[in-house]
Amino acid sequence: MASSHTVLMRLVASAYSIAQKAGTIVRRVIAEGDLGIVQKTCATDLQTKADRLAQMSICSSLARKFPKLTIIGEEDLPFEEVDQELIEDGQWEEILQQPCPSQYSAIKEEDLVVWVDPLDGTKEYTEGLLDNVTVLIGIAYEGKAIAGVINQPYYNYQNNEKQKLREHRNEAKAGPDAVLGRTIWGVLGLGAFGFQLKEVPAGKHIITTTRSHNSKLVTDCVTAMNPDDVLRVGGAGNKIIQLIEGKASAYVFASPGCKKWDTCAPEVILHAVGGKLTDIHGNALQYNKEVKHMNSAGVLATLRNYDYYASRVPESVKNALVP
Ligand code: AMP
Ligand code: MG
Ligand code: MG
Repeated sequence: MASSHTVLMRLVASAYSIAQKAGTIVRRVIAEGDLGIVQKTCATDLQTKADRLAQMSICSSLARKFPKLTIIGEEDLPFEEVDQELIEDGQWEEILQQPCPSQYSAIKEEDLVVWVDPLDGTKEYTEGLLDNVTVLIGIAYEGKAIAGVINQPYYNYQNNEKQKLREHRNEAKAGPDAVLGRTIWGVLGLGAFGFQLKEVPAGKHIITTTRSHNSKLVTDCVTAMNPDDVLRVGGAGNKIIQLIEGKASAYVFASPGCKKWDTCAPEVILHAVGGKLTDIHGNALQYNKEVKHMNSAGVLATLRNYDYYASRVPESVKNALVP
């Protein structure tokens, strides 16, 4: 049966349900207790069973429904038949009811590139800092990030012992009515949904940056911003959520290491509410399928006052980071 909805809106509606499913996988692996940690390039570049299972679930579910998509996932996995139990077939109804922005209404499936980070913040995940973790599905068209979904499996989770006890009893909740986990989504020209937009008080400069991938260059750049406060947390998705919820005013990462699957979905959510994400030189990031995966010239992102932060990036930092 032909659908009256556009390819883009059907894809976003599916990505929402698929990201939710991935979030349940991320929680299940912790609950089962065997993380299956593998080192990729070094001790701070890890992969767990949750990264593997979530990617299999996301990529297979998307490919079944949208066979002509280009899907690029973070994890290098051997080809294997995916267990039916990992397949998500749902589409989030509320998204299907939204209008597709007219500039995207004629997009064909084969024109879209999907960037998948099945678990962003893996290092923190292995250390029990579970609210740092997100599942990221970003959608690009003509090299530009245009739609995205972020699932935060442990939203409402509190990293304390009491919470861990509740978790073991399968009732992990922050308060009597709090639901564990949430999904944020957005499309350029339509907006971003699933959170309350909030700004840091005017005049306050709060920088959020890496916790696990620090370097002298990263610190030099943060210091040059003359911040009132510096937050060191895991995950690119998590840091963009801090920007849109008024916890931080700029995400500053003057280092290579962050990849296209880390920035694609978060960038859309930020841009959909009037923010800006670039490399440290101020260049827009490209998301066509041929692009190199590494964001070699770092990340600079703000909800407001982008120019304040961009103007303070030291020349020495710019010279050290070649796009
Ligand atoms: P972080 O802010 O450290 O959590 O980094 C944001 C994202 O970029 C995460 O997915 C990290 O795994 C990735 N990343 C940043 N720096 C590096 C690095 N040096 N090696 C591997 N991954 C990195
Ligand atoms: Mg990541
Ligand atoms: Mg990841």
